[in-house]
Parts: sequence; structure tokens; C-alpha cells
Amino acid sequence: MPLNEKEYFNPREETMSVDELRSVQNERVKSVVRYAVDRNAYMKSYYAKEGIDVNAFRGLDDLPSLPFVSKSTFRETYPMGLMCVAKEEIREMHMSSGSTGMPIVMPYTQGDLDQWAECMARCYRMAGGLPGDVVQITPSFGLFNGGFGMYHGARAAEMFIVPASSGNTERQIRLINDFQTKILTAVISYCVRIIEIADRLGVKLPSLKTGVFGAEAVTDAMKQQIHDALGIEVFNIYGMTETGGVGTLGMDCGDHSGIHVWEDHYYVEVVDPQTLTPVPDGELGELVITSLTREAIPVIRLRTGDLTRIISRKPCACGRTHVKIDSISGRTDDMLIIKGVNFFPTQVEQALLEIPGVHPHYQIIIEDHHGVKDIRIHVEAEDGVTGFMVEKHLKERLGFSPKGDIFKPGSLPRNEGKAVRVVRKEVD
Ligand code: ADP
Ligand code: ZN
Repeated sequence: MPLNEKEYFNPREETMSVDELRSVQNERVKSVVRYAVDRNAYMKSYYAKEGIDVNAFRGLDDLPSLPFVSKSTFRETYPMGLMCVAKEEIREMHMSSGSTGMPIVMPYTQGDLDQWAECMARCYRMAGGLPGDVVQITPSFGLFNGGFGMYHGARAAEMFIVPASSGNTERQIRLINDFQTKILTAVISYCVRIIEIADRLGVKLPSLKTGVFGAEAVTDAMKQQIHDALGIEVFNIYGMTETGGVGTLGMDCGDHSGIHVWEDHYYVEVVDPQTLTPVPDGELGELVITSLTREAIPVIRLRTGDLTRIISRKPCACGRTHVKIDSISGRTDDMLIIKGVNFFPTQVEQALLEIPGVHPHYQIIIEDHHGVKDIRIHVEAEDGVTGFMVEKHLKERLGFSPKGDIFKPGSLPRNEGKAVRVVRKEVD
């Protein structure tokens, strides 16, 4: 099948054969291991302590013998103790949103900024973003990597950028209509907010064709609600501060059969979070990432804390050859255990949104009565939906029976960044 080059930002890299991809990765992983140890004192002493001889490292097959790094490695070396270049080479820095504790820092060289822009531009093209198309960027421009990542990528993809940044939802809606925005980028829960305010104002958003959403879990039920409200195709974009920000890890293509990870830039492993040994393709585990082309801070065997599975290593219907992973179903530290039942907030979301009349605004309240945990679900819904309906449906779908508290649409707290889905309270 001849390639339609408009669909790819970098047709050669995006569609190279799986064998070629593997051999590129093999060469790059050898360089990056050597580079990190030669240029960073922390990595050098960490590997020495673990008894790793980098001279004996032969490539991908040896990767599982290397120790992991994680968010805590970044925290221990805060702010820039993992850096492999001189400070003068840094052009920009970003910081994680701190959902799970102290934020971590990522400095970027010019090469890193170019690499980020390349990964993001591939995502835009994959979502149908062509030169000149209007893209509205609603994640904030600041320390959080979302706004700037979307921006660097859109520059590379030669799009017309509306750098709205976060908040001021009525203005966002006006901008969409005034500039005929085609692609909306957002933290997914913020798109729900835009829909809500547009409804309240009685404004339609017919120019929108595509949503590029990420930063938090994207459930099928949420995608469907957004599709129904706006008639747009929803793409699930993935990345994190430690790998260089939004879009670095990839996005699903128009086939919507998994997230393509840009494998010429990142090597993917999935391990059992308890035993830390690899799980077979198709099985759920923790994603482990090795960056192959980052300069300021490359990561080698980064435990992401995100749970997913390998969906396919075969070339995709879209023509891309890069591995596909499942949507992130949760973080290892997100798992809730209530009365012996384990579950993730995404499962609650999926189940809630299956109930007709329930709106996509909810919070899971964990009440701690002197060590005994109880769970309540606060959810917005239309008249006619009762707490009992919520309890019954969750019992059927998840096997536990929380209290369901129904709130009027618009009454639960809204966030401009990532939504706060789990709230813990001490109760006497
Ligand atoms: P943090 O939220 O840990 O402070 P970041 O702001 O760097 O750090 O966000 C990265 C994290 O956000 C990822 O590790 C993942 O848990 C979550 N995330 C990002 N994109 C997605 C996505 N498309 N689906 C699910 N989770 C996502
Ligand atoms: Zn594809």
C-alpha cells in the first residue's frame, strides 16, 4: 500500500520495519547506557553499587539485568542531580504536576526540545493535524509540561496555534468559534468542562473535529460522552515529565487499537509490579521505559508506575510499525482496596458513566473511621437518578457497594489541571 505522506510527520521513522526498529533501538540503548554512566556521577555510583559492569553491556538483551530508576530517583537527586550535560546547555525546564508527591524536574537541551517537538508533531499528524490547521492549546503554559509540549509540537507541525492556556472557559469557547479551531488539546476532564459551559451558554462548537486529550486516564465511557457531545474523534495522548513530557511516549492512531509508543525514541518493557519480572505480551503490568535519544536526563528502565499491557507488535492498519500499548488503566499507587476488593478509579468512572443520566463529574470519597475504610461516591446526575441506582450498578460491575450521593450538575468542585478523583477524609 503506498503511503499517504500527509498522514505522517516522519514517514520513514514511523513506518520502518520492525526489524530495523529493533536494530536502531539496540544501537541506541548501548550508547545511552554508556552515556549516562560516563556523564552522571549518581548513575555511575548507582551502577557500581549494583555491581553493573557497563563494559559488558551488549544491548537490548542485557537490559533486564540493569536496575530500575523511578520517581524517587528524581526526588533523591532534586533538582538536577541526574543531569548528563552542563547547565549552560539547558534551554528550558519543566516540572511534574506533583499528583503523587514532591514534583520532579526535567531540564531540556535544544536537542531534547527538538526531540519533544518531533514526537508531538507525529501525534498531531496522526490526529489529522495538517499545516495551517488551527489547534487550540488549553493545558497551562508554565512549569507543567502540557502547554509547552503541545506548543513545540504544533510549531514543528506548522499549525496555526491558539495558545489559550488554561482556564477562562467562556473565552476558550469564544476562541474556538472565532478562529474555527479544528483540534482541541486538553487534559480530558477540562474538555468536559468546556462542554458543560458551552451547553449552559447554548453555544455549539461545529468547527471542532478532533480532541487530543491526555494527562489523566481516558476511559472508553468518557471518550463516548465527549464524542456524543461534540461529534469529535478523541485521541489519547501519553507522556510524563520523566520521559520529556506530553506526547513523548505517543498516542493512539485513527485505528484506535492502542497507543503507539515512539520506539525509535523509547524502549518499552512491561513488568509485574511485585516481582519486577517481565510479563508476557497481553498481560497487565507496570510500564518500564528506557529513553534512547534524550540528552539532559536520559532514563534507563524507569518504573513509570502506570499500568498497561502490550497490545500488538505487528505493523498497524495505519502503516506504523511502532508497538501498541493499552490505555493506561491506572497507576500502581492509585489502586484502592476497600473491604478486600481492589479497584482503580478508572473502573468506577467506566461503571458510573454507564448509568443513563449520570454526568462525567464525580469524586471517590474514602472515609477513614479509625482505620476502617468506607467509600462514598459523589456524582452529578440528572433528576431521576438515585443513590440506590448508583450503588446497585457499582455492586454489579465492581463487586462492592459504596454509598452513592447524587449532586446537582455543576455542584462538585472543578479543577483546571488534572481532576481530583479521590478524596481521603478522617471521620470520627
Ligand atoms: P504527575 O502527575 O505524576 O505529577 P506528570 O504531570 O508528569 O506527573 O504526569 C504524568 C502522569 O500522568 C503519567 O505517569 C500518567 O500516570 C498520567 N498520564 C499522562 N497521560 C495519560 C494518559 N493519556 N492516560 C492515563 N494517564 C496519563
Ligand atoms: Zn496505528
